[in-house]
Amino acid sequence: MLKRFKPDMICNSIYDIDLGKLKEKGINYLIIDIDNTLVAWGEFEVDTRVLSWLEAAKKLGFKICLVSNNQRERVKKIEKALGLPGVYSAKKPLKSGFLKASYILHEGKKNHQTAVIGDQFFTDVIGAKRLKLFVILVRPLKEKEFFLTRINRIFEKRILKYYMKDEEE
Ligand SMILES: [Mg+2]
Repeated sequence: MLKRFKPDMICNSIYDIDLGKLKEKGINYLIIDIDNTLVAWGEFEVDTRVLSWLEAAKKLGFKICLVSNNQRERVKKIEKALGLPGVYSAKKPLKSGFLKASYILHEGKKNHQTAVIGDQFFTDVIGAKRLKLFVILVRPLKEKEFFLTRINRIFEKRILKYYMKDEEE
């Protein structure tokens, strides 16, 4: 069961993602989580490094949409700061938020060219894998998190250990 949800890539942060390699794989669209992937949870300040990374991705030809379980107000502010469209109250790991983002990016027609980037196994990875999207799991930016997320992290750690072991074998 766990194999079905195995992330396609595990990176320390967005900066470690080899965007050229994604292009080679035929990926042209990115659906990116906000909290603890691009911006620290509960904070509004956007690191200039994130902006440069997004610019570099756009220059390579990636079209990007944000997708967040957070509420409208926060997502709208981040959308504006990053200059990207977004989906709020996405209810990940349900499919609906990812489907909305896919529709914004390519009218839902090119999911085979789409990668999801997120920091949480139970929302980002499971949700994206349910739609058979390419998934990149990154490490969370900060320890401070929503209390339910903290509970999920305990299980997440065990699952990641399993995947690491699977890679070694
Ligand atoms: Mg997140």
